[in-house]
Amino acid sequence: MGHVDHGKTSLLDAIRKGNVAAGEAGGITQHIGAYSVFVPNPDKPGEDRRVVFLDTPGHEAFTMMRARGAKATDIVILVVAADDGVMPQTIEAVEHSKAAGVPMIVAINKIDKPDANPDKVKQGLAGLGLQPSDWGGDIEMIPVSAKKNENLNTLLETVLLQADILDLKASPTRRASGVVLEAKLDKGRGAVATALVQQGTLRVGDPFIVGQFSGKVRAMFSDRGESVTEAPPATPVEVLGLQGVPQAGDTFQVVADIDRAQTIAGQRQMHARQAAMVKSSSRGIESLGQAEIKELLVILKADVQGSVEVLRATLEKLSTEKVKVRVIRAGVGAIAESDVLLASATQADSASTAVVIIGFNVRPESRASDVAKHEAVDIRLHSIIYKVEEEIKAAMIGMLDAIEKEVVLGKAAVQETFKVSRLGTIAGCRVIDGVIRRQAKARLIRDGVVIWDGDIASLKRFKEDANEVKNGFECGISLVNFNDIKVGDEIEAYTIEKIAATEL
Ligand code: GDP
Repeated sequence: MGHVDHGKTSLLDAIRKGNVAAGEAGGITQHIGAYSVFVPNPDKPGEDRRVVFLDTPGHEAFTMMRARGAKATDIVILVVAADDGVMPQTIEAVEHSKAAGVPMIVAINKIDKPDANPDKVKQGLAGLGLQPSDWGGDIEMIPVSAKKNENLNTLLETVLLQADILDLKASPTRRASGVVLEAKLDKGRGAVATALVQQGTLRVGDPFIVGQFSGKVRAMFSDRGESVTEAPPATPVEVLGLQGVPQAGDTFQVVADIDRAQTIAGQRQMHARQAAMVKSSSRGIESLGQAEIKELLVILKADVQGSVEVLRATLEKLSTEKVKVRVIRAGVGAIAESDVLLASATQADSASTAVVIIGFNVRPESRASDVAKHEAVDIRLHSIIYKVEEEIKAAMIGMLDAIEKEVVLGKAAVQETFKVSRLGTIAGCRVIDGVIRRQAKARLIRDGVVIWDGDIASLKRFKEDANEVKNGFECGISLVNFNDIKVGDEIEAYTIEKIAATEL
């Protein structure tokens, strides 16, 4: 990932060209959006190690996958041009990778250029919280030149080292599973998906389920366009034989037989229809009355930088001990699809956070509106700062846990006690205030001091179970696991009511 023109495509091309075996020239023709590259293994000569590059068209694809809960990327290579430094899309790539929790390696590209300044790039990245390892931090930053093929092996070795540290492993013997990188409807071949096998070995003839569709592998093609019959872990392949076109980010799973695949596909289609109905009516900032929600994440877009700064400061200052407001992205310009995707991916992550996009004197792009509707992302448009403030405050209040309030229902005076062998002590009482309810909680009060607090075990009127007994009437009460009741004690019944918070 990285800013436009910083050399992502060139770097990938250079790595792939250097990797084409002699005599295989012209082999790179097929574009399937993912490429296998083989790196010699110094520990085991002859056993090359495979690195798969996902050539995602943009950060959107990466985030879209994450929003769907798929994890295709183990490591992000952030490409930054040494003659240009940190740019807006660099920052965006860093935000997305961080949000996804995917470790990063930086390729500082174009070091062949006379005005290349790798140190300036490092400084810029350090400003984003990425500390270069040679400055004592934990991010590897490799100077490379795609044009001069410089240091590309070091970059690949660093990727493999990182993979070792992360202990990335897969079993080739399991039933295959993986993730869809791209899918389309091809006129001649039907539904075609580029999939990355993550576990197991995918074989021609395997029945599988992908997203909401079933299928049976009819044919497979490698990233070099060659027909293959098997795809072991970490292989990108084009798969034919799907019953429908899945979405990028859908997972696929090989199952025992095609009937099973069809049954699961049918169930998923039904669930998806139900979920779509529920989703459209939930999840906005207003519906967040539930417990635990503690952080309100804001994506802020405004027409001018001045407003961005003022709004950011104003909103973050609203933070209280119970609810924090955190601006996860702020910028000038219309609300873009990438903003919505970031919101969607973030809100999928945790039940204790809520996300809202604020547009101040700006509007969403039409793609952004569509995606927001589909992903149920909350977008609020404003042109007055204090209105934004009011709305965020209301949302914060909505996020607070309900307040628990005790309500005393009534009181009974103990007039006699009976010991019943299996039940323990039963108190013969008269209700002297309010009501006593069977489901209520109770306290035993002796000489004005609470000596026990718990639940009522039974409530009876003349040997009959009663739900409640009112002021002036007599009743028998026994308490859960408590028998030390004496004449003259008082039993107070109460309930805990939950009421929504109304202020911060
Ligand atoms: P992308 O938009 O990030 O995919 O960038 P490209 O790969 O299209 O590269 C943008 C421009 O930078 C092209 O004109 C490349 O020829 C040039 N470029 C890429 N890598 C290098 C490099 O290492 N050195 C030099 N001098 N130019 C490079």
